[in-house]
Amino acid sequence: METPMKSFLQAARRLAAIVIATSAMMAGAAVDGNAEQLAKNLFGSQRLPAATTPKSFGFYSKGCFSGGVAIATDGPTWQAMRLSRNRRWGHPAMISLIEKLSRDATADGWPGLLLGDISQPRGGPMLTGHASHQIGLDADIWFMPMPDRRLSSRERENMSAVSLVNEKTHLVKDKLWRPEHARLLKRAASYPEVERILVNPGIKKKLCDTVRGDRSWLRKVRPFWGHDYHFHVRIGCQPGSTGCKRQQATPRSDGCDESLAWWFTEEPWRPNKNPDAPKARDLMTMASLPKECRAVLAAPEPESEMAVTIGGNGTAVAAVAAPEPPAMVDPSASMPVTANSFAPTPKIGIPMPRPRPQN
Ligand SMILES: [Zn+2]
Repeated sequence: METPMKSFLQAARRLAAIVIATSAMMAGAAVDGNAEQLAKNLFGSQRLPAATTPKSFGFYSKGCFSGGVAIATDGPTWQAMRLSRNRRWGHPAMISLIEKLSRDATADGWPGLLLGDISQPRGGPMLTGHASHQIGLDADIWFMPMPDRRLSSRERENMSAVSLVNEKTHLVKDKLWRPEHARLLKRAASYPEVERILVNPGIKKKLCDTVRGDRSWLRKVRPFWGHDYHFHVRIGCQPGSTGCKRQQATPRSDGCDESLAWWFTEEPWRPNKNPDAPKARDLMTMASLPKECRAVLAAPEPESEMAVTIGGNGTAVAAVAAPEPPAMVDPSASMPVTANSFAPTPKIGIPMPRPRPQN
């Protein structure tokens, strides 16, 4: 027999279901976006990933991804930095690679990883920083070793990173450079899924000058602006991501040649003639991204962040409240507009600068 209370509850449940469905539709409509909308505004405001199959769409500097997972803010062998940015998300293959690197590096004697930006929950262009990191296959890792205590969320926001490179000479500061840095980069380059590692030209040169024995891994380590306090690990398109555009393979050589010498000329460091010219990410509309990126925006979210967080020791540090746009140095501000990390560096006919005498 149906009691009045029971039918009231049923009616209330039906109503709640309609309300939820309607608001979901409205939310879908709000993020669906028309073709002219700026992609960075839509992707930059996502809090959770698209709860669908992991897939990368488009290219590292023009795309998005679904099925993202987060790396925990704290693990036994890592701590994530700058939590307010909400960029701890990546393709599951990227996240498990970071976890593996943190374990292997610790076994090698590195005290643990400090993690910088990976991707936004659904990737896409960002409001600040990075041109790439859009398809969940890029991650920044600090050269500073993890301290032997847990950093507070405030420290993770504000702790300044230390540059390993003298900005005038573009050479590594020998007082700060350790053989452990080279070992960490070698470990990162050792994984077959890692296609490229971006470092400052001074760091690349240091490796060229000092690595003995197996130098084959130097091929993956590429010089680029910035990357003096962190290195950038990029993995290849993952199985199942048919819409993921591969990057050009790196040359077979160790790269310790004229293409590196170019970085020690004046040309790459000339002030940008047009510093106020808008960057690609500031112009990118939904129409310029792969069409699947609209479905990625409209896809349902997982039930919670914890449900899609990997690793960790269950003692997550809450992101600091009321995130403000982080003040960050944007290395691309001084870069030629056409510069990108996929193009080969120009070759020039001058010899490599000689290593400084070791003391
Ligand atoms: Zn990066």
